[in-house]
Amino acid sequence: MTNIISSNVGYPRIGENREWKRALEKFWKQEISETALLEETTQLRLNNLQKQQDLGVELIPVGDASLYDHVLDTSIMFGIIPERFKYDGGEVDLDTYFSIARGTNDAVASEMTKWFNTNYHYIVPELRHAKPTLTSNRPLAFYQEAKDKIGIDGKPVILGPITFLKLSKGYEEKDFPTLLQQFLPLYIQVLKELQAAGASWVQIDEPIFGTNLSEEVITAAKNVYEQFSKEAPKLKLILQTYFGEVVNYEAVKSFPVKAIGLDFVHGNALELIKQQGFPEDKVLAAGIINGRNVWLSDLESKLDLLETIRTHIKSETIIAQPSCSLLHVPVTIKPEGNLDPVIKDGLAFADEKISEIVTLAKGLKSGKQQIRQELAANKQKRIQFTQASGRTNDVVRRKIDNLTPTDTARTSPFAQRIKKQAEQLQLPLLPTTTIGSLPQSAVVRQTRTKWRKGEITANQYEQFIKDQINKWIKIQEEIGLDVLVHGEFERTDMVEYFGEKLNGFGVTQYGWVQSYGSRCVKPPLITGDVSYKEAITVKESIYAQSLTDKPVKGMLTGPVTILNWSFVHDDVPRQTVQNQIAFALRQEVEALEENGIKIIQVDEPALREGLPLDKNRWQEYLDDAVYAFRLTTASVQDQTQIHTHMCYSEFQEIFATIDGLDADVISIETSRSHGEIISTFEENTYEKEIGLGVYDIHSPRIPSQAEIKQNINRALQSISPTLFWINPDCGLKTRNEVETIGALKSMVEAAHEIRKAQFANLKQ
Ligand code: GLN
Ligand code: ZN
Repeated sequence: MTNIISSNVGYPRIGENREWKRALEKFWKQEISETALLEETTQLRLNNLQKQQDLGVELIPVGDASLYDHVLDTSIMFGIIPERFKYDGGEVDLDTYFSIARGTNDAVASEMTKWFNTNYHYIVPELRHAKPTLTSNRPLAFYQEAKDKIGIDGKPVILGPITFLKLSKGYEEKDFPTLLQQFLPLYIQVLKELQAAGASWVQIDEPIFGTNLSEEVITAAKNVYEQFSKEAPKLKLILQTYFGEVVNYEAVKSFPVKAIGLDFVHGNALELIKQQGFPEDKVLAAGIINGRNVWLSDLESKLDLLETIRTHIKSETIIAQPSCSLLHVPVTIKPEGNLDPVIKDGLAFADEKISEIVTLAKGLKSGKQQIRQELAANKQKRIQFTQASGRTNDVVRRKIDNLTPTDTARTSPFAQRIKKQAEQLQLPLLPTTTIGSLPQSAVVRQTRTKWRKGEITANQYEQFIKDQINKWIKIQEEIGLDVLVHGEFERTDMVEYFGEKLNGFGVTQYGWVQSYGSRCVKPPLITGDVSYKEAITVKESIYAQSLTDKPVKGMLTGPVTILNWSFVHDDVPRQTVQNQIAFALRQEVEALEENGIKIIQVDEPALREGLPLDKNRWQEYLDDAVYAFRLTTASVQDQTQIHTHMCYSEFQEIFATIDGLDADVISIETSRSHGEIISTFEENTYEKEIGLGVYDIHSPRIPSQAEIKQNINRALQSISPTLFWINPDCGLKTRNEVETIGALKSMVEAAHEIRKAQFANLKQ
């Protein structure tokens, strides 16, 4: 008889009503004291533990909660504090903690970047000059708290050393083993103290094992885990992976830990254990409920999956759990009041997923019969959801099935198109533009809220948006930009806005998930086949264009990004939905073109973050992305110029894909890694037009003309001036008016000067 344990991997921090966010922001604004902040967040943390216990899950994670980010928590625990924050030993106070995350007047914040292929951002540890020390045993404190206050024997969660170091910057690859040795005793101390306190299971998160690691790293890792189990032999260590299958499975499965956590939702863990087996002496923590989406699971097939898994392993114990931390889904569907009840019943957020786990564990333990009521109810809801009206659209399905290669190819190759575009657009050498959004001032946000609450009419709101566009077209003309934008004032969010206007989407009221720090996003739901309903951006674009003789860019969010930043149902493959979105956007592109818009930008900031962890799976993902982008954009005439924008700079690895999009112009974020991206152009030939961001929009600082000139000149050493565009790194919605105008003026002046010099050069 196998022993079955239900478990959770991590719980959302934010609270059902984003209490956590509110408390943090009040504290930052000095509206509440540190004590009040800690009281409130402690209460929330304890409630979350209590809730999990009430839901009946056996292994409850502790220490997964955070006041900002768990990677930063780990850095703090090991005393990894960049020099500029002037830390001189001892416990790290809250001010220092938040300063690293958010910056101060004197010290810039640490970099923040996406956590694997999610939209969660972590604070990148800076290991330069680091002297790791244990400043506090964080997991121990939380373990004890849970024991004392709730009476549970929680499962401490620790970010594993391999992942932690791999996500850090400020050291060279060759120094990895040495660094690891420096951290080893600290980790061991944490574990020993947990052991002494009576902890039993400990979850060590190592999602990095889903990526392609070198032989040396794997060897070093194995050694570390050997030390762990030697030094803390009574702890039951779970080596927890997620977001994909373990690439070096053969090696990792021999690590001397008690349990290995595998993700049975993303990647092919079942194949791995079928083909390469699972060690007899280990416990399998099977991640079977999808922690990355929000749909009710098909419990019957999940139970079958567990049964299948059971037949392929010899171990006595199986842990049933979500595929990853539930940090990536909203808290509970309970308060949702506006959704179609059938759709609501088809959803499962964190709490509901925990219940699913509990049910499955019970079923596996005591047989299907024991959970027949739950299975029946689940089936009923699933059938209703599947058959809900409006979820399938045969016309769209047929159209997509019948697409031919010509549907994804522009009429002429770039070299011919660009001539026609040049003729139509009459742009100067080194044209200047922006990425799309302009300051979303408090007035803009307040006015939108008033309209949503019915305090002003739709007409009044529309007029307000028009006034904003009007004002900013004038400003852009005065600054002397060559290609203007309408400013995106009507959009709260670049995905939600499109979701609201396409068929197949739904929006929740409280479906928030943490994105970074206190910032939460509410991803739209894609509940069914996506299709085009009505014009989305045409009105604003043509209004803006009517105000100026300069070209105004139409501005769309691309299919890959819309898909990546939504919760998409899994009745059909993701790629099918992506193509449906692309097909709908294609109609918007055509509508813009018909209405006289000559430049259309399709943003794909999420293209890179969606890459699978395992490089062997990249090509398929990238091919699908290229296909969808081309489906969106290829039907325009030669003279219509297609732009795209991406906000990251590791360009090298996906160079071929970027080229494959066949966009006439691409703009890319650059200023934070100038050297890197420019060297890409020395090594590869890129023949289309390109704008490398010439200043960083994340900082309120207004860059000088001289420094922008320097950035431009640097880029022009490897990119021809006839192909180069001048633009900021990204959209300007988070900057204020003064910063925006100041920076853009510097940029345009810099462009003018360089233009003169280059023009003289070209003539010679
Ligand atoms: N057009 C968008 C903007 O300017 C692009 C944002 C992004 O790349 N994330 O805001
Ligand atoms: Zn961007």
